[in-house]
Amino acid sequence: MKVPCIACESEQTTIVGKLPIFTPDYLGRPLDTSIDPGSLYRCEACTLLFRWPMPGADELLAYYKGLDKDEWWQTESEREVWRHVEKELDDLPVPSVLDIGCFRGNMLRQIGRKLSCFGVEPSPSARSEAEANGITIVGSSIDSLQSESRRFGAITLIDVAEHLPRPMESFQLLSELLPPGGKLIIFTGATDALSWQFARQDYWYCGLPEHVAFYRPSWFDWAAPKLAMRVSNVTRLPYEPVALRQRVDESLKNIAFITYRRLKPVTLIGSVMSSLPLISRIGNWQSCWWTSARDHALVIIKKIA
Ligand SMILES: [Zn+2]
Repeated sequence: MKVPCIACESEQTTIVGKLPIFTPDYLGRPLDTSIDPGSLYRCEACTLLFRWPMPGADELLAYYKGLDKDEWWQTESEREVWRHVEKELDDLPVPSVLDIGCFRGNMLRQIGRKLSCFGVEPSPSARSEAEANGITIVGSSIDSLQSESRRFGAITLIDVAEHLPRPMESFQLLSELLPPGGKLIIFTGATDALSWQFARQDYWYCGLPEHVAFYRPSWFDWAAPKLAMRVSNVTRLPYEPVALRQRVDESLKNIAFITYRRLKPVTLIGSVMSSLPLISRIGNWQSCWWTSARDHALVIIKKIA
């Protein structure tokens, strides 16, 4: 059976491979062998990569609602990407910004001081803290914005686009909340990054079950005209910038981890690897994070006047 693309519905899709689970649980449930994390598919028509089967929209929303305000990004302070976002908030047609998945409101508290700040957040405990931080909460999900009558100068999706089970529907709804010249500001993984091309379905970004949609920046060139918008800027960044030494360390570990996973199924090589203590230890790693890789992009899309 053909699996249609979750963005463009084309049936020209190809399976890339079985996805791993890098998290200690599966959307809050204990890990067990009955859980199917799905496979990674590539759409040959629009270039999107996506997880299929994926958790249902209700299951995902219930998971986000259940997140405690202290559960995630506990130590998050100012991030490099926020400084890039801040520059984009200087010349908006309306002095307001809506942050989708604003969580505790840390980003807008830091960079949205000159603007009216609005947020969408599923977690009730994070929402209360966002409100205490001066953010007006306008909904608990993108779908809850269907009857929203306000227009926002910018809408930010920082580490959010990869969570969208129906990307085009969500971007369409958001684009309607922008006046001409308004901006969608999206920070997400970039599947054309070298590290990603090397690791493919074994990439760290695909090991989180709540990540379901994976874009390359040029995907937005395909999508923007359908939303009466145009891509105005793309900046490539890592998820988390670190010192060179840590970057090299993470890169080497990932090359070892992914090479091991590729070679293990080859019987002869697999048995040789198992007999070498140092190498066989890699087989016990459940995950290998590569958050220092330059594998993200900040994409700015403007509503056409
Ligand atoms: Zn597609």
